[in-house]
Amino acid sequence: MSLRSFLKLMEKQKQVLEIKKELSTRFEIPFVMKKAGDQRLILLFEKVKDYKPRVVANICSVRERLCSALSVPKDKLYTKLLDSWFSPKKPKIVRDGEVKAVEEKDLSKIPILTHFENDAGPYITSAVVYAKSIEGNVENVSVHRLQFLDENHLAIRLVPRHLYKLWLAARDAGKDLDISISIGVHPAVLLAASSPVPFGVNEFEVANALMDGKLCLLECESVDAYAPADAELVLEGRISTTKEVVEGPFVDITGTYDIERKQPIVEVSKVMHRENYLYQALLPSGLEHRLLMGLPREALIWEAVSKVVPKVHGVNLSFGGCGWLHAVISIEKQVDGDGKNALLAAFAAHPSLKHAVVVDADIDVSNSCDVEWAIATRFQADEDLLIIKNVRGSTLDSSADQKTGLTTKMGLDATAPFSKPKEKFERAKIPVTKNVETYL
Ligand code: MN
Repeated sequence: MSLRSFLKLMEKQKQVLEIKKELSTRFEIPFVMKKAGDQRLILLFEKVKDYKPRVVANICSVRERLCSALSVPKDKLYTKLLDSWFSPKKPKIVRDGEVKAVEEKDLSKIPILTHFENDAGPYITSAVVYAKSIEGNVENVSVHRLQFLDENHLAIRLVPRHLYKLWLAARDAGKDLDISISIGVHPAVLLAASSPVPFGVNEFEVANALMDGKLCLLECESVDAYAPADAELVLEGRISTTKEVVEGPFVDITGTYDIERKQPIVEVSKVMHRENYLYQALLPSGLEHRLLMGLPREALIWEAVSKVVPKVHGVNLSFGGCGWLHAVISIEKQVDGDGKNALLAAFAAHPSLKHAVVVDADIDVSNSCDVEWAIATRFQADEDLLIIKNVRGSTLDSSADQKTGLTTKMGLDATAPFSKPKEKFERAKIPVTKNVETYL
């Protein structure tokens, strides 16, 4: 199970669009990714100006496609994800792998894209970064953006989470942190690396559980790290604990520019790839970015809200809400007040969540028009609105305090109240007679 094998399957299902025209890594490929992203097809750029490798994009941009990558029906997606978090499996370690086929001298031959007008430069955006604690007892895998600096150096954005914690410990011990950087991996690996599992859980083991035990890891040579043996491209290197550089500006999930910060430098010691490798691109703030980040959080919200109401029918971290800041949750409630408890559970499950709407089961959470209709006909602001001030939210939200991360959250209980007759809130139907059946 590799990116290659998944692409073969997608080609058979006519999900891959080949782009023959020669395009530049600077703005042109990202432009087409954004434009063609609406068709939701995987894009294969056959000719890249000044580079030999082909570029593949929009792989994980559709929910159904992630379901086929995990061989799971849509209604079992959250359960499969949650199971993999609670029962990770150790992957097989191998000595040799297809990614070792070709060794490059440095980063200069890789078609790294420059995405947006004011971005600081070319950025690797689909990289899965593995690191081990210096005592060797904690392993971590996460997705990080990497700014191209020169042939052997990248800047890495370390959000204060697990990799940052490993880096701090290495710094205290006066050492640099060994890492592997894998690009072009099976969707299950990307999804696992984006999953909010606790510190101490190795996300490669989560990926292996999602892949039913089919993940093979290669032992790196120049660093103490592992990487998927059939990745398209693997970089080995060290995150410096003494050298920093100004990183950014760079467009993140909201589609606005994230601020500049001092971030550590990665010294790349080895570059290896498969024969005729594909470089995997990922458009910041695109469908794929929002789905990969949002989907694991939807599973968390689904699980948390399921504990306070009898049934959760659907969860959607909407595209307009950046796949991150807005949630719609459809529930079956028992008493009035369940809607507000559902909101509190959702905010606790996903701390970056800013606005949430709870609706009844007859509302389609993925249809924004339907959700608006529920707010229009079932919601009263003086009774059904929840406002929570000065709580931790997302630093990516331009309207929040981006230094402290403090924000105001809003929850809307747009479920129909039990205090009024049920019929008042039902959608009117037109009876279907024999004469009109042909129009169905
Ligand atoms: Mn982690």
